[in-house]
Amino acid sequence: MMLIVTPVALFAGIVTAFNEALGAFGRVKEVLSLPTEHDPAEPAGDQSLDRGAGRAFEFRGAGFVYPGSAEGEWALRGVDLAVPTGGVTAIVGPSGAGKSTLFGLMERFYDLAEGELRFFGRNVDTLPRDRVRAHLAYVEQDAPALAGTVRENLLLGRHDADDAACIEALRRSNLLFLAERPADLLDLEIGENGILLSGGERQRLAIARALLSDADVLLLDEATSNLDSNNEHSLQKAIDEAGRDRTVVVIAHRLATVRHAGNIIVVEDGRVVGQGDHPVLMRSNALYRELVERQQLDPVG
Ligand code: ADP
Ligand code: MG
Repeated sequence: MMLIVTPVALFAGIVTAFNEALGAFGRVKEVLSLPTEHDPAEPAGDQSLDRGAGRAFEFRGAGFVYPGSAEGEWALRGVDLAVPTGGVTAIVGPSGAGKSTLFGLMERFYDLAEGELRFFGRNVDTLPRDRVRAHLAYVEQDAPALAGTVRENLLLGRHDADDAACIEALRRSNLLFLAERPADLLDLEIGENGILLSGGERQRLAIARALLSDADVLLLDEATSNLDSNNEHSLQKAIDEAGRDRTVVVIAHRLATVRHAGNIIVVEDGRVVGQGDHPVLMRSNALYRELVERQQLDPVG
């Protein structure tokens, strides 16, 4: 059976000291970049990503079976979907539908069994995995925070960020309220020896870290833990802000996230069963209507 090493798995094992964290980060990066099957060598010739392609990701006739699963046990099958560059694309669907699997494929943890995946117009089979990952920031469902200062947590996104850039990322993630003055916020201790952050605040800190990085594409697996309405509103604002100058793909569990997304993809049982914006899907897609009526789009997965 193959293990996916995710940042959460990583963080779980760590860490109090920042330097240790950085060390672990470096190692994790190495682990993540180990080829799962084969890693295409940098091919000769033109390797440019096609920014004009208008699509950050595109799945075409994509099928995938998890390694170790029985033959024919498709986690995804016949998937055609496009993530346009810029703005927010939301992925919704019941638990077990295949949403997180889509992220795993975008992150290049796995290869497709059939069909193709394009990244800015390039078939990912012709790109080294690291090359794709360098453009992505992945914020997990239970985004971890390190014990340490807010600044230390942020610098994991970009080692050389200055205070002004850190504060701007915190503003955009709606975290400035944590301290009276922004400058004090950077030195604020969180975790074991400092203030404890709620699940929603931890996730926004991870978003701030992602904003600070220069990743073009943010993959966000929205937290499912009960957020109070304040936190929910803040998360919503942070997502909208992030979508202004990047491509944001969010696995959405809440109506608030979905309603504003320009592009919503409905997944069920390993297939895409709808794509459009909220009004279009409300009119045309029974599953979407049902998910929305239940509000909590997917309490588990
Ligand atoms: P969602 O995120 O929509 O809840 P997932 O993408 O996690 O769904 O899962 C899609 C399907 O793939 C489910 O049937 C799930 O059991 C299966 N699956 C997920 N992860 C693995 C794995 N590591 N190995 C085998 N099967 C998996
Ligand atoms: Mg999931």
